[in-house]
Amino acid sequence: MIKANDPSIKTWLQVKDGSDFPIQNIPFGIFKPFNRTNPRAGTRIGDHVIDLAAIAEKGYFKDIEIESGEVFYRSSLNEFIALGKPVWQAVRERISDIFNHANEEIWRTEDFTDGIFYDISEVEMLMPVEPGDLTDFYSSLEHATNIGKLFGNPKDPIPENWRYMPLGYHGKASSVVVSGTSVRRPLGQIQLYEDETPDFGPSHQMDFELEMAFISGGKTRPGERIPIDHAADFIFGLVLFNDLSARDIQQWEQNPLGPFLSKSFGSVISPWVVTLDALEPFRVEGPEQEPEVFSYLSYSHPGNFNIRLEALMAPEGEEPHRICRSNAKFIYWNIFQQLTHQTVNGCNINVGDLFATGTISGPTHGAFGSMLELTWNGRKPIVLPNGEHRKYLNDNDTIIIRGHAENEKVRIGFGEAVTKILPAVEFE
Ligand code: CA
Repeated sequence: MIKANDPSIKTWLQVKDGSDFPIQNIPFGIFKPFNRTNPRAGTRIGDHVIDLAAIAEKGYFKDIEIESGEVFYRSSLNEFIALGKPVWQAVRERISDIFNHANEEIWRTEDFTDGIFYDISEVEMLMPVEPGDLTDFYSSLEHATNIGKLFGNPKDPIPENWRYMPLGYHGKASSVVVSGTSVRRPLGQIQLYEDETPDFGPSHQMDFELEMAFISGGKTRPGERIPIDHAADFIFGLVLFNDLSARDIQQWEQNPLGPFLSKSFGSVISPWVVTLDALEPFRVEGPEQEPEVFSYLSYSHPGNFNIRLEALMAPEGEEPHRICRSNAKFIYWNIFQQLTHQTVNGCNINVGDLFATGTISGPTHGAFGSMLELTWNGRKPIVLPNGEHRKYLNDNDTIIIRGHAENEKVRIGFGEAVTKILPAVEFE
């Protein structure tokens, strides 16, 4: 077992029951204290944000090859991630040791604690990484089935190639934003009626997609492949991912090359990167894969993660209302297969790249991970507690995605990915 994952460890910091961030989590993020000018890297225990730059400055990471705070005084984790897995593991281990209640007497000293803590309410969370690339997979069988039933052949909804490889497309990394950032409804070309000429205007079918994304922790050279048994070494951690989608724009543009402007106007991630290590206790077998996969995609360990996911909607000024509940364990193609497939042609990856799973829908209606599926393309609107109906997202609606893994001993959470839909701004 990874030492920092030991569920019996207690911390000398106060952590509320049911927190997503017990001492067994130790995620990484970038934050800016409201009273400081520079962003820096941090971790989180309970509601305490811990300044890794300040700890490094005091010399407490020297023996793990971090001499100064420099690598943490950055606006992204990319440089830290590039130091490699042994370093992230050592930092996580060190944080676990420092805040272990058994070591309270050693570490709870003014010398050490001075300047390292902020309350979560005293900081702004920023994008944790600077992603060079974004891939969006299409790895949920239930999601692909729903899409096939809605737009393809209802009798044979899954494309022939789907069960042979994790399908995906290249997204636009520049428009990925951190939780708390509002996104404006896009304008685009929309064909309102089949066989008629398209119109141009604001999307009327704004949607969310309940997804997770992993962040690459290594760099490869062009021509290099990542064998599936090494894929875990190239994954730093995971975040929640909301792939905002304009369905009407998508419908008109996506043939023959796939989604383009209907997806690239904004996607939202949660700010804390939960390491693959912290999620190890929650590995589970994924769905059975039939036909048998090519040997380069054959993965012998449990490759899925039991992470409970939910999406909530809050109209302006109202309490959030849960509209679906799913689980990362439902995805058919696991993240190791996704990464291996992505590089099997020799495509190189960089540190900090984002790889989204695709919408994670489950087998029951309440587990569908998009409005498109929940309302069956607007045919069965959702009724909110205030009586309002929603086919898709309205202006000023807020969408919240949450996720956590939990067993009888520990809960490892992701926090939230929150975004508000702002009205479109039309051209003058
Ligand atoms: Ca997607």
